[in-house]
Amino acid sequence: MQNDEIKFEVNWELSRRDFLEAAKTMIEITSAPGKTIPIPVEDDTGPAIMLLAGLNCGGCHLCCKSVMAAGLLETEIKALQKNHGTEGFTKEGLIFPCRFLTETGCSIYAERPLVCITYPLQGGAQSSAGKLLAVESVCPQAREIALRAYAIAWDISHKRKQLKAEAESVIKGGDKRLK
Ligand code: SF4
Ligand code: SF4
Repeated sequence: MQNDEIKFEVNWELSRRDFLEAAKTMIEITSAPGKTIPIPVEDDTGPAIMLLAGLNCGGCHLCCKSVMAAGLLETEIKALQKNHGTEGFTKEGLIFPCRFLTETGCSIYAERPLVCITYPLQGGAQSSAGKLLAVESVCPQAREIALRAYAIAWDISHKRKQLKAEAESVIKGGDKRLK
């Protein structure tokens, strides 16, 4: 079946609610068999967004009660000070348990800091292979997310190795035929 080309303009200026309504409409249009649903991610944010999309967050709010290292960007501090006063955070970050947590969840959800949006993923872990994403182990979903990520990473790595070996074997075969 032909995969129709869908033109969808992502309008980041919309409110969260209107943005999600527009996304829902686009997903409806593009989710028929043979079509693909476009997702507005870029190379540097893609892996994190897709991992977070797979997070089955149970809303336990452990992250809002007990995470000790939730740094804030300078612009976030200024916005919090302007909209909510000066309590509940310092220039080092949020103070826990977070003062914005209520019985029904985060009271500033649409304007919550980046560190909350990307929780439980943490950037900047290092390995011999370079920078890695890490998963904050306080989150009850951490092990499952990490295991899924490792499984997908293995699949990709294994397939790449296999394709490389096949390509090399084809090149070698071609060389022999030339002799
Ligand atoms: S700002 Fe909201 S999401 Fe972030 S820790 Fe506080 S209550 Fe949780
Ligand atoms: S600790 Fe994990 S599962 Fe619990 S609310 Fe935070 S992100 Fe969701």
